[in-house]
Amino acid sequence: MNDCIFCKIIDGTIPSTKVYEDENVYAFMDVSPLTKGHTLLIPKQHVQDLFEMPEEVASKLYSVAPKIANAIKDAFHPQGMNTINNNGAFAGQSVFHYHLHFIPRYDETDGLKVKWETK
Ligand code: 5GP
Ligand code: ZN
Repeated sequence: MNDCIFCKIIDGTIPSTKVYEDENVYAFMDVSPLTKGHTLLIPKQHVQDLFEMPEEVASKLYSVAPKIANAIKDAFHPQGMNTINNNGAFAGQSVFHYHLHFIPRYDETDGLKVKWETK
């Protein structure tokens, strides 16, 4: 039996707020957002992490990334956005079904400590 929580989100057993769906991928709001509009993009196929991801799954997943980023941008009007993916517990992965984080950034008001110098 598959007890992966993101597989359960895909099959509807666990409720989620859908941002985007097609036959290969599912995007939904993070239950505990780091900033307003924090979204996760996952493949429908259970893949543990980037190390395990078949090329065709990566290709389909990353091909929709600009669409997801723009949907979040249009809905929340952030000043910028981080995309990040954690692979392995040592790197901070806590759910072992691959997911790409979209974290909108709002100048100095979003409270996140992670900052890159702006030019
Ligand atoms: P990780 O630390 O593995 O990179 O990120 C896992 C993310 O999944 C976290 O940001 C966490 O808030 C989110 N998450 C964990 N469980 C659920 C859930 O049941 N529903 C939703 N929507 N997000 C979840
Ligand atoms: Zn899964």
